[in-house]
Amino acid sequence: MNVVTRFAPAPTGRLHVGNIRTAIHNWLWARKHQGRFLLRFDDTDRERSTEDSVHAIRADLAWLGLQPDEEHRQSARFDRYDAALEQLRAAGRVYPAYETAQELDLKRKVQLSRGKPPVYDRAALSLTEEERARLEAEGRRPHWRFRLDHGAPIAWTDMIRGPQHFDPALLSDPVIRREDGSWLYMLPSTIDDIDMDVTHVVRGEDHVTNTALQIQMFEALGATPPDFAHEALLVGSEGKLSKRLGSLGVDAMREDGIESAAILAKLARLGTSLPVEAIVDPAPLIETFDFATFGRAPARFDLDELKALNARIIHLLPFAAIADRLPEGMGEEDWAAIRPNLKSIAEAADWWSILHGHVEAIAEEQERPFLQAAAVAAGALDWAEAPWPQLVAALKAETGRTGKTLFLPLRRALTGRDSGPEMAALLPLIGRDETIARLSAAAGA
Ligand code: GLU
Repeated sequence: MNVVTRFAPAPTGRLHVGNIRTAIHNWLWARKHQGRFLLRFDDTDRERSTEDSVHAIRADLAWLGLQPDEEHRQSARFDRYDAALEQLRAAGRVYPAYETAQELDLKRKVQLSRGKPPVYDRAALSLTEEERARLEAEGRRPHWRFRLDHGAPIAWTDMIRGPQHFDPALLSDPVIRREDGSWLYMLPSTIDDIDMDVTHVVRGEDHVTNTALQIQMFEALGATPPDFAHEALLVGSEGKLSKRLGSLGVDAMREDGIESAAILAKLARLGTSLPVEAIVDPAPLIETFDFATFGRAPARFDLDELKALNARIIHLLPFAAIADRLPEGMGEEDWAAIRPNLKSIAEAADWWSILHGHVEAIAEEQERPFLQAAAVAAGALDWAEAPWPQLVAALKAETGRTGKTLFLPLRRALTGRDSGPEMAALLPLIGRDETIARLSAAAGA
C-alpha cells in the first residue's frame, strides 16, 4: 500500500503543542512507509482563515523539518464540494432543513427534559413540497444535513483505540452546509481524503464521533474509508492542558530556545510506551514509530521536561549542525567546551563573550593574596599541556587549599560567574596571557 497521511489545520492561528503533535505523527507514519505526507489547509471558513496563519503554519512545519510532499487548500475546491453535494442529494443522502438555531435548541431542551438523547428528529425530512416552498417564501434559506443510514451499526478498528461501534440512530444527521452556503468541516474533509487517496487519518480523539459520521459519508460517495488512529489528548502537569500550554505556539517555544529536534523527540513518543530520549536525528523516531505503542490515557505534557530534554539534545549537537547559529569566530573547540553547560544555543554567545571579551571578576578582598599566587603560578605553567590540572596542583601545594575554596575564587576571577562549563575546558580557550591578566586584575594588582 502507498501510505498517504495528511495534516489538516484550519489556518486560524499558529500551530500549538496539540496540533504539532498530530502533524508529527502523520509525518512519521508517512516517512516510515516511504509514503506521502500532505498539508491541507482546512480554510473553508473564509472569515476566520488568514493568509498570515497559512504562512506561519508553513514556516513552523519547515522549521520542525516536517516538509509536506504536497499542499492543498479547501478554498480552491468549492466546485468539487458542490458536485459531491449534488451527487449525494440525487442519492437521497442529503436534505435541506430550515430550523433556526433557536428552534433546534428548544427541541434539544424538550428531549433532554424527557430524558431522551438530543438527537435531531428529522422533521425536515417530512416537509412537503408546499411546506418547503412556504418556508422559502418567508425568506428562510435551507441548511443541509447528511442523512445517516440507520440500517447497521458503524464500526471500525481504530489503530489506537481498537474496535469502535456507533449506533447511527443515536447520532444526529450532521449539518454539512450552512444557510449562507459555507461548508462545515465534515463533508469537504471526507471528499478531500477520497480525492487525495489518503490511506490513514491520524487525529485527536475529539474527532471520534466525526469519524463515525464520516465513515458513512465515504461509503455514500462510493469510497472505502481509510484507516483511523485517534490519539488521546494532551493534558498539562496539573491534569488538564492549561490555556497557556494548550496555545503554546512553535514560535514561542523557538524564542524560548527550544530546538526543533527536542519538540520532535518529545512529541513523537509522548503518550506511547517508548521512552522519550534525547534523539537528534529523526531516523530512529521514524523507525520505531508504531500506533500499537500508543496508550489510551491522556498524555501529560510538561514544559519543564521538554526544556530538560532540550538541554540534553543541545549537549549532543555536533558543531557542524549549529555552526551557522554560533557567534562569529566561535570554533569547534569552543563549542565542545561550552556545549555541556547550555540550556539554549543563544547562551553560547554569553560564554563566547566570557571567553574572549571583558570579564568583570567577582573577587573578595581576602582572596587577593590567593589570586596573586594564582597569577604567578599561571605564568609558570606549560600551556602546551592541559594547564588547569597543573594550576590546581601548584596552588594546592602552595596554599594547602582544596575543593571549593580552591576552585571557586579561580572560577569567579576567570569567568565572573559561580558556575559554568568545566574550567579544564575553558582555561586553554581563555589562554595564557588573558588568564594571567584576569587573575592579576582580580588580585588588585
Ligand atoms: N481541521 C480539523 C482540525 O484541525 C482537521 C481534523 C482532521 O484531521 O480531519 O481539527
